[in-house]
Formats: sequence, structure tokens, C-alpha cells
Amino acid sequence: MPEAQIEKKPARMQGRFKPKGRQIDAASLAEVKSLFPDSVPPRDHLIEALHTLNDHFHHLSAAHLAALAHIMRLPMAEVWEVASFYDHFTLVKEGQTPPPARTLRVCTSLSCMLAGANKLLEEARKLEGAEIRVVTAPCLGACDKAPVVADGHMLIPQADEKPYIEAIAAQSTRPAPPATLSGYTDFDAYRQQGGYALIEALQSGTADKDALMGELGNAHLRGLGGAGFPTGRKWQIVASYPGPRLMAVNGDEGEPGTFKDRLYLSTDPHRMIEGVLIAGYLVGIDKAYLYIRDEYPEIIAMLHSELEQVKAAGLASHMQLEIRRGAGAYICGEESAMIESIEGKRGLPRHRPPYVAENGLFGRPTLVNNIETLYWVRDILEQGAKWYNQQGKSEHPGFRSYSVSGRVARPGVVRAPAGSSVAELIEHCGGMAEGHVFKAYLPGGASGGILPAIKADIPLDFGGALAEEGCFVGSHAVVVLSDQDNMWQAALNLMQFFKHESCGQCTPCRSGTEKAVTLMQDSSPDIELLHELSATMADASICGLGQAAANPLLSVMKHFPEDIPNDTAGTSRPGTSRPGISR
Ligand code: SF4
Repeated sequence: MPEAQIEKKPARMQGRFKPKGRQIDAASLAEVKSLFPDSVPPRDHLIEALHTLNDHFHHLSAAHLAALAHIMRLPMAEVWEVASFYDHFTLVKEGQTPPPARTLRVCTSLSCMLAGANKLLEEARKLEGAEIRVVTAPCLGACDKAPVVADGHMLIPQADEKPYIEAIAAQSTRPAPPATLSGYTDFDAYRQQGGYALIEALQSGTADKDALMGELGNAHLRGLGGAGFPTGRKWQIVASYPGPRLMAVNGDEGEPGTFKDRLYLSTDPHRMIEGVLIAGYLVGIDKAYLYIRDEYPEIIAMLHSELEQVKAAGLASHMQLEIRRGAGAYICGEESAMIESIEGKRGLPRHRPPYVAENGLFGRPTLVNNIETLYWVRDILEQGAKWYNQQGKSEHPGFRSYSVSGRVARPGVVRAPAGSSVAELIEHCGGMAEGHVFKAYLPGGASGGILPAIKADIPLDFGGALAEEGCFVGSHAVVVLSDQDNMWQAALNLMQFFKHESCGQCTPCRSGTEKAVTLMQDSSPDIELLHELSATMADASICGLGQAAANPLLSVMKHFPEDIPNDTAGTSRPGTSRPGISR
């Protein structure tokens, strides 16, 4: 609609003629325009534009969405479908009252539930009112500090001296804390440690690109976001397609139990950035998009400032770098969904083939690598593939960063040889938490299955013995469970997570996760039907989320039948009444 018509209705509209569709009011249009004073955001910046509005108004009103659709020349339906897809956008329909500007997010993922998230949620709800709203949130990537609450998206530090919720209440009239990060290796410190020397060698032509590519191929570096695809091979495949080539850096770790990328980004970000720049040279990348979780605002702010220094030093002269902010959708950790999101759309996984290596971002060959994968590239190329491969156990080359949480004495990221077992990881973490006896573990986050303590010596690596158990290591998120936890309730928590995070594109996943939750909440669940449902989800879902969502459920039905509720005789099976994560 031409803007002249918005400011003042033409005479023909003042009588019985009414314009079709949602009308744009002049005040909302002016407000939206004022947020983009320099230029109208391009189509692929729709999510960034929605962030700008949501940050400013603390919600997205129908009037502002209509104004945004107008200035971006997009159909209202397209803007609305994107805005409503992502959890971090607060939509307010016409006639609705906007919620309080301040949002407390209480994590209800498994590790936080084990640590008492229910109690925390109950306490937090007492703070709800005109100034604060409280919502539950899937994994905030801080399982080592469980249970956690975020103010906006900033984690609230746990106060030792007083109960956690009291500390939150004390801050209740303050604005959300600023997104700052300190204590990390910044640009100058990284340079002093020899950082970016490899980039300078590539710039000056003194480094042999083919030799470096060969070295990376000889190192058994795997995709550490969860898929485990050999990194060197992936780089060669993408390089084999004609340019221009693009890159998407997957910093959207959302797998419950995973927090290793947060650690590497918040302590030594330039090691990852150098990995991106090296990929730029060896693969021939024109532009890289760094897609970072919205749950890590302090990291996003830090990366903006550090990247400026990298660019100013001329180290990124061969490629463009752009940071993109996620918006609270777990599925965007799936590579093709992330690519859709970077293009400014809903994060719906694509059908494959074609694979993103050939046809990814904006239809171009695209290299997708996880944060930690890129983090190790410099070290491997400087110290050699042999050095890296020797770090692992027999038949498990390299080392891994295991995020260990749950019932251990000292949760945290454990850097250990690939193929380490949970028994070894528990030892690294100071043993079990006091009063807890090891009962079971998740070897690979929410979808990797659940194994009993008797299988504590299985090497945790891609494939191998773990795959024979029907489990996988994924992003190496290990959650340890104890005799005080009910496995059925653990599996239910995970299924509720998948139900919430299903993108809804395909019926087996969308309806399957919903149906599974309902069945699992029954006092005497239909086990045969749950098996059938699990098989359908695994066989017919489009992407890994739906295909693997039932893994924990299947594990519990196989290994912990005593934890399945059975009220047919008016009593529960042994073990189901234990305290733990029951809702
Ligand atoms: Fe979406 Fe689930 Fe289907 Fe994946 S399996 S495309 S998350 S509905």
C-alpha cells in the first residue's frame, strides 16, 4: 500500500469502499521506521528485524508486524509465520494486553529438573506481576550450574550467600543485566599467543593450501555438533563445487545437556574465528554467517566487538563475516533448518538431497561446521594430524569435550580422549554427588538414548558399541542419573522437550511427540502402542528430531521396566514413587 494512503485515506475509501487486509496505522509505521533509520532490512534480515522490534517494545504487536511487513514489502502472513515460529518473540494479538517487559526464564530441561527446577519455578512464579513474567524454557546451555534462570536471556548468577530466588527478587526492580563478558582471551592476548599466524602465512602465500587441506583430512576431526561427519572430507566436498561458496557456523547448541560451545566461545573465541578464516582460504568461502544462540547474548556482544578487531587488522580480507542471532528454536541446530533461519525464514529442515554442501544458503554450496569443530582446526594444522589422532584411545582418534551434568559431584566440560566411558567421566567429575548411587546415563543428550549403569564401560564415540546399543553420542552431552531418579519421568521430560521443539512440518513428529507425551502421562501406559508410535516416528519423520525423539523412551522400556507406571492393580511398579524429576 502506498504510504500516502496510510497517512490519509483517499476519498474513495471513506465511504462504502474499505481496503482489504490488515490496515497499517501511521503511528506504528513511524515507530517501526524509526528503528531502521538507515535502510530497510533486506528479506534475509527478517529475524534480525523482528529482534530489533522485540528488544525495543518487549513484544511484537500486530500493528508493528503489519508496519514491518509493509516497509520490507513482505506479505503479512510471511512475517507472522516467522514471528510465531520462534520462542523468543512475544506476539501480542489485537486486543491483548502486552506482558510485563521483564521475563524470567526458568530452565526445565533434564539436568535442571534433576537439580530442583520445579521448586525454583514455583518460587519464581511468586514474583509474577506487573513487572515480571515467568516462563519455562528449554535448555539454556548451563547444565553445569543447574538449576538456572535467565533474566531476559542473561543467566542470573547463583548467589552463594542467599537462596537463589531471593537473589532474583532483590533484582526485581532492576533492568535486565547488560550483556557483557570478561575474562576471555581477547584479540590482543590471542595474537600474543601466536594466534592468526597461520592466516598471515596464507595471506602471504607462504603456507601451502593443499598441504594444509591434506593435514586436516589426515586428522580424524569429526563434526562435533553431533553428526560426526569427517571434517576434512566435508571441506573437500564443498570445495569441489563451483563458487561462490558460503559458510554457516553452527553456534546454536541447544541439545539438552550440551554446554561445551558456550565454554569455548566464552573463553577463547578467536580460536574458533581463526578456524572460520582458515576454512575461508582452504575451501574458498566468500562469506560466513555465524549463527549464535540467542541464549548467549554476552557472547554475541563480545563476538561483534572482537570480529571488528579481526577485520580492522586485515585478517578477514578474503571473506565477509556476519553474525546472526538465533531466536530460541532447538530445531535450528539442524543444519538445513539453520540455513532456512539465516535466510530469514522459519527453521524447517529441508528434504535431502540436495545436500547443503551443494545447495545450501541462498542456493549456493555451503560449508556447515560446529563451533567446537572449528575451534580445533588451528591446533591440528599447527601441531599436525598425528598429534591430534594420538590424543584418543585405541580406535578412537582425537579428544572430545564431554559436557557432563546431572548427579555428579562436579559437573562441567571434561576434555578427554575420544572413546572415554561414563565411568571415567564420573571419575573426572569427582565421583557421584553425595548421597547418589549411579543408576543410568544419557550418552548423547536428549535423543541419544538412556543406558543402565551396568553399561558404564562402553566407549562414548560415534558408532561402535554405542550404536549397537541403539544409542549415539551426538554432541557428547552426558547426563548422569541416580537411584533417586525415575527413568520413566526422565524419558517423559525429554519427550515433552521434543514435543515443544518439533517444527511441526511432518505429522509423524508433530503428532507423534504429542501423542507419546499423552500416553506416557497415563497411569498405566499402553506399551505396545508406544512401541508402534516410536517405530512410525523413526521411520517416517523428515529429520533427526522426529527420527530420534523416541530413543530415551525405547531405552527405558528396554532397560527399566520397573520404572514404568502400572496402576492396573491400583499400585505403581517398584521405583515409580521415588523422588526426583517427577512433575
Ligand atoms: Fe520438523 Fe519434526 Fe519433521 Fe523434523 S521430524 S521436520 S522437527 S516435524
